[in-house]
Amino acid sequence: MRSDNSKIDYRSLTDDEIASKAWAMLARFYGYSSFRPLQQDVIIRAMRRLDSVVLMPTGGGKSVCYQIPALLSSGVVIVVSPLIALMHDQVAALISNGIPAATVNSLQSDEDNREIMEQLYTGRIRVLYISPERLLLEMERWNSDLDIALFAIDEAHCISQWGHDFRPGYTRLSRIKELFPHVPVMALTATADRLTREDIAAQLRLEDPRLFIGSFDRPNISISVQVNPGKSRRLRQISDIIDRHRGDSGIVYCMSRKGAEDIDKQLRDRGYRSVVYHAGLTAAERTEAQRRFINGDVQVVCATVAFGMGIDKSNIRWVVHNNMPRNIECYYQEIGRAGRDGASAEAVMFYSYADIATLQSFVDDSGQQALNSEKLQRMKEFAESSLCRRRVLLSYFNEILDHDCGNCDVCLSPPERIDGTVIALKAMSAIVRTGENVGITMLIDILRGASRQELVQRGYDRIKTYGAGRDMSFAQWNGYISQLIQLGLIEIAYNEGNHLKLTAYGRKVLADRSEVTLARYIPFESRGKRSSAKVTEPQLTPAQRLMEILKEVRLKLARKEAVPPYLVLSDKVIQELVRFEPVDMESFSRVEGIGERKTVRYWRPFVTAIRRFKGMDVKLGNGMSQEETLLLLNSGYDVAAIAEAKGIKTATVYQHLTELVNADKLTDFSTVITREQYLRAMNVAKSNPTEYYEILGNEMPSGLPRLALAISDFLLRHKTD
Ligand code: ADP
Ligand code: ZN
Repeated sequence: MRSDNSKIDYRSLTDDEIASKAWAMLARFYGYSSFRPLQQDVIIRAMRRLDSVVLMPTGGGKSVCYQIPALLSSGVVIVVSPLIALMHDQVAALISNGIPAATVNSLQSDEDNREIMEQLYTGRIRVLYISPERLLLEMERWNSDLDIALFAIDEAHCISQWGHDFRPGYTRLSRIKELFPHVPVMALTATADRLTREDIAAQLRLEDPRLFIGSFDRPNISISVQVNPGKSRRLRQISDIIDRHRGDSGIVYCMSRKGAEDIDKQLRDRGYRSVVYHAGLTAAERTEAQRRFINGDVQVVCATVAFGMGIDKSNIRWVVHNNMPRNIECYYQEIGRAGRDGASAEAVMFYSYADIATLQSFVDDSGQQALNSEKLQRMKEFAESSLCRRRVLLSYFNEILDHDCGNCDVCLSPPERIDGTVIALKAMSAIVRTGENVGITMLIDILRGASRQELVQRGYDRIKTYGAGRDMSFAQWNGYISQLIQLGLIEIAYNEGNHLKLTAYGRKVLADRSEVTLARYIPFESRGKRSSAKVTEPQLTPAQRLMEILKEVRLKLARKEAVPPYLVLSDKVIQELVRFEPVDMESFSRVEGIGERKTVRYWRPFVTAIRRFKGMDVKLGNGMSQEETLLLLNSGYDVAAIAEAKGIKTATVYQHLTELVNADKLTDFSTVITREQYLRAMNVAKSNPTEYYEILGNEMPSGLPRLALAISDFLLRHKTD
């Protein structure tokens, strides 16, 4: 890697100048054509050697913010990261883009770690990932020769007791500023309320930090929520989702370890490749589960909240919440693990009133009762909302979305309003007649005139509304009663066995017989059909067929390189390939998300597959090979490195270069021939033209003498006098 930027003092450049250099790196190493919001400003701030706190949602693009400064400067970027698995993933991703990175951690041998620390001083490693505990040890030994561009503190909320992932090692990171007062610090997190934010800045002793708050919108994730689906219905829907995303992976989040184990077992019984993950497993078991998930050995992980912080897998296509999470921050972070590559993804949440009761009991046992209770309340409101879910979510993060999103269950099937007065009155009077002593299931049984034993024993078959709701199914009643709860007519007494009670407002409505408007109940199966198209049917569209072919190519490359498939190319990039069908290297390199290194490594197999698919000649001509040589040259490879990368002789590389010069495509010769070599060649050409090749053949690599002549012709052609 050539580092032309190393000696620049960025503080003397304008914002635009820094931005344009940063953009060049983004295009070259990541293959992206533009920055996401804030990324550029965050990078500029770091290059000016100033501190910042960066708040962006998971998948918002935080890594680019601290990785690009590593490409722009001579110094190394030190990234503090809480989890070893996360570090490994990030390092692998960087290397796959051609950026030298490494990690120092307790799972590697001391020798490996020592070697990496030595390499730091040579400037070879651009980005180093390290745990806070380890950094605190190592840092004391670093001397002033070590050129550090930036400290990036990832998952910075771990510093704060207010946050939910408190980690003691983080609190001692103030030592960074003591030891390296002139190195900028960038603290990054996806979850931080105001308190945590201030805590981060204070504890790290940041100097006049600028706060960047990114948009929390993740429009590519579709969102839906369902109240109280039964066990078998949940399972059926989860199977459906898995089937719809063949070859992709997803997470089922459960509230309890037992719940996770149950679902995992049932999925495996049904023939799905699934694995379980929770804090009750040993560290080794957890690492293994995570590894199998990341490598794509299994499609599904059934997990508790313990899973995920270290997951940087870009092709998670769906997340199911089998239970309601305890607050919106958790929910949003968990669904945010899907679709990080920007391609469409799906988030489905199931919840039941039993979940809420359990969560309420957690809250009651927790330290910050009032706060947690409020957060749970907001989560519940989100789940029960009949407004666009994304608007509700974003408003929680103080962001205004001024239109309905069109990609949530409410938007996709906007509720039809019906006169629900009779329904409301039946339900409410039944509640009153039981002395407000029953839960939702018993209430529905009463309304539908069920004759189960407990009901009869308690005499509920003799009350006036018994059987008054036979005309509706259990699910319909369930849906309408939920709405009555959302409307505030009925409440659930979580502290009294989840019994239903009328609220003051409910009593008034019942007494006045006021009109109640409800949303027509639509069974989930018939909602949002758009997204649940079955793919099991044998007829694939051409685009789907190409997609399968390209994923197959990707899988082969991944196996060969022993990396997970998404590190070769992400799903999003595969989709772009299907869309644009590049048939040569040039157009392949222009695809969003394909940087220089991936172009060089992968264009042949993918372009060949696409050409075959389109019925084109699959022999990639000489012209393409020359183009490739030129690209490598422009990326800073010298002739020997090009030969090695392509597995050809240096003589062939010189031949390509000669033809490129003849075609006026190569115009800067400084990296292919030295001034001495050129002058010597010209000298022989003049003094001994007939023996030109014999003489120079002994002095120069084969192919270079011919290149020298081509250059001389070029200069003659372009001589302007
Ligand atoms: P975070 O660390 O904030 O969770 P990442 O840095 O992992 O998010 O980025 C999420 C995804 O978005 C990655 O696949 C990344 O390559 C991609 N990405 C980042 N910046 C851009 C950009 N400017 N244009 C397109 N994709 C981007
Ligand atoms: Zn919506």
